[in-house]
Amino acid sequence: MRQKTKTKSVKKTAQNEPKPANDAKRPNTRTSTHSEYDIAIIGGGVVGFAAAMYAGRFRMKTILFGDKMGGVIITTDVVENYPGFKRLTGQELADKVREHAMDYEVEMEEELVKDIGKQERNDAKSVNAPVFKVTTESGKVINAKTVLFATGTKWKKLGVPGEEQFANKGVHYCALCDGSFFKNKIIGLVGGSDSAAKDALVLTQYGKKVYIIYRGDQIHPEPVNMERVQQKIKEGKIEIINNTNVKEIKGDKFVKSVLLDKPYKGKNEFPLDALFVAIGHIPLSDLAVKLGVKVDNKNEIIIDRTSSTNMPGIYAAGDVVDTKFKQAITGVGEAVSAVYSAYTYIGEQGTKKKK
Ligand SMILES: Cc1cc2nc3c(=O)[nH]c(=O)nc-3n(C[C@H](O)[C@H](O)[C@H](O)COP(=O)(O)OP(=O)(O)OC[C@H]3O[C@@H](n4cnc5c(N)ncnc54)[C@H](O)[C@@H]3O)c2cc1C
Repeated sequence: MRQKTKTKSVKKTAQNEPKPANDAKRPNTRTSTHSEYDIAIIGGGVVGFAAAMYAGRFRMKTILFGDKMGGVIITTDVVENYPGFKRLTGQELADKVREHAMDYEVEMEEELVKDIGKQERNDAKSVNAPVFKVTTESGKVINAKTVLFATGTKWKKLGVPGEEQFANKGVHYCALCDGSFFKNKIIGLVGGSDSAAKDALVLTQYGKKVYIIYRGDQIHPEPVNMERVQQKIKEGKIEIINNTNVKEIKGDKFVKSVLLDKPYKGKNEFPLDALFVAIGHIPLSDLAVKLGVKVDNKNEIIIDRTSSTNMPGIYAAGDVVDTKFKQAITGVGEAVSAVYSAYTYIGEQGTKKKK
């Protein structure tokens, strides 16, 4: 089990104002201290961190649970489109947003949330609004007036023979994490999105050559990344195989080749040393669905412009929701709206006492 870091909450006083963002002594987790929170944020990516920062500013009793702190942004080595930062790594961006949140009295725990239940309050004096019971993998239970899902996604798999067998033995999903294992090797990458192109560019730093295998007519990254890919094609570091699918991954102890559904240079079997899969993500919305939150046909949580779901008191933001363009900045914007909505919801419920 992962080692958890826990630090006591710090009371903010005039002498103890927020410290600069580069203060190495600032805790990056805090343990839970309240019997009932205003908001429980599920997800430790940039979107969850941004939500925690806003909730802290609203002086909401805030707790964030994150399974893998930092989230998916830490798998990219270059972010150039987050306003205010011309260029930084995904890890640096996640660290900055997290540090910013920890300037406020928010609590963060590195824990997987296993269950969220809804309970009506049964004492006569309390408000109409229900309470949400959040249970973590280690058995901790906390109560919250509102919940924000910022659970993001997991990697989509190809679903072909050999994928499971050669997982981490030549089949990989994170170019930045695992690309360096393949110095001077032939690397395949399946996918055509912007993040797939960025992954291919990362892999050119290590591999002898990177083959992008894409099922459509043409890969579709952002123009700036397309230009970079084209430059690498000129340099002989990238080659694109369009209109082609990988049918099977073959090897002995490690990956040796893939079978393509149409011949490339006259052959269906294509020799390579590694295959990176960058074909998208699956939203982590199961907990929300179990609670009664509506999702679309892709299992993405449906939100409105205030980041509210169909359930009062439940909000969602970031890669797990049904917005089309998924970026750090769009998710952060949704998170801000969600926290504001939660804040106003709590205020309204506080005035609606049971009759
Ligand atoms: C290779 C790549 C490059 C990218 N480049 C850029 C870029 O340059 N610019 C840009 O703006 N965007 C980029 N993106 C997109 C960007 O990373 C995402 O849109 C953004 O990080 C999503 O953040 P999130 O917090 O919604 O989700 P995530 O980052 O996925 O975080 C979700 C968090 O929730 C946690 N979690 C899930 N379930 C639970 C649970 N039950 N209990 C507790 N915790 C849970 C996860 O462990 C994780 O910590 C890129 C994406 C990829 C893959």
